[in-house]
Amino acid sequence: MTLHWTHAATDGRARAGVLHTAHGEVPTPVFMPVGTAGTVKAMTADAVRSTGARMVLGNTYHLMLRPTAERVARLGGLHRFMDWHGPILTDSGGFQVMSLAGLRKMDEDGVTFQSHVDGSKHRLTPERSIEIQHLLGADVTMSFDECTPFPATHEQAASSMRLSMRWAARGRKAFVERPGHGLFGIVQGSTFEDLRAESVAALTGIGFEGYAIGGLAVGEGQEAMFATLDFTTPMLPTTHARYLMGVGKPADLLGAVRRGVDMFDCVIPTRSGRMGRAYTSRGQLNLRNARYAEDDRPLDPDCSCPACRNHSRAYIHHLLKCEEMLGPMLLSWHNIHYYQALMARMREAILAGRFEAEAALIEHDWTKDGEE
Ligand SMILES: [Zn+2]
Repeated sequence: MTLHWTHAATDGRARAGVLHTAHGEVPTPVFMPVGTAGTVKAMTADAVRSTGARMVLGNTYHLMLRPTAERVARLGGLHRFMDWHGPILTDSGGFQVMSLAGLRKMDEDGVTFQSHVDGSKHRLTPERSIEIQHLLGADVTMSFDECTPFPATHEQAASSMRLSMRWAARGRKAFVERPGHGLFGIVQGSTFEDLRAESVAALTGIGFEGYAIGGLAVGEGQEAMFATLDFTTPMLPTTHARYLMGVGKPADLLGAVRRGVDMFDCVIPTRSGRMGRAYTSRGQLNLRNARYAEDDRPLDPDCSCPACRNHSRAYIHHLLKCEEMLGPMLLSWHNIHYYQALMARMREAILAGRFEAEAALIEHDWTKDGEE
């Protein structure tokens, strides 16, 4: 059977379900830590597993440049290469070509670009992106699309979205069906309701194993993102997983789950961790701040991760001051653990039919200890 999602409960518009993949089942809503270049930065695979994470994301753009998809395939695929035995979702490379690559030229067929690593020339087309993701061994393959920049005029957003829809159809043809594997289509159309509707119609006409909402978290702000979700998620089939790409902070996750999203990925917990920030049940902390120099409390009294169990805020502050590697490692570990605990808490609440009551508690607690 192909990769699919089954529904367990709906509460308001929030949904709980299970994603069934070749590498196991994933309860949703789910947050996928980002394993950019074959690693969730500053964490071992065992550490990632210990947070409760069941599924991670790999980046096509980074892996096609180094060590190349062909080399990963020869070494047994990305699961074996990075010691991750659970499901892996790979992005299509399109977003990072736009955000990271040097000189690039887009045409109807695809994108030619220069590697940000060594300036070498590469080309991605819908077919090549699908082939790379197949070589990596992705459980969830993403359609190759153009992430429409923000802001965009209606005309720009329409022509960009229609190109992505033509690429989605080509990707569907190129995708090799295998049990437990699937291809997701990506809804584009910026913040325009009519374009999002046209995009959903095009994608559901082609047919995918799941539907992602792309082109958000690109600078439009939380209010515009939620407004776009307000009209976009009700257009999507109730029978398939919905994935909001590149989102977000804890409050974004809560607001998007409330609006019917099932899957998320974001570099924020790990990137923020490397910069000295912790997301906790009581708000966001910046551990570089001198106020923590003698703060003997754990990062988060409600967290059971090793950073919170074994160390004080003062110790982590000290590590950051000394630029010790362990500081970013502990904060990445804690942040991923907190994100997993947050998703699990929301899932339990949906199953129990008390999502809004739990969301109100979570939101209230964020104001207790946060600085920003
Ligand atoms: Zn913790």
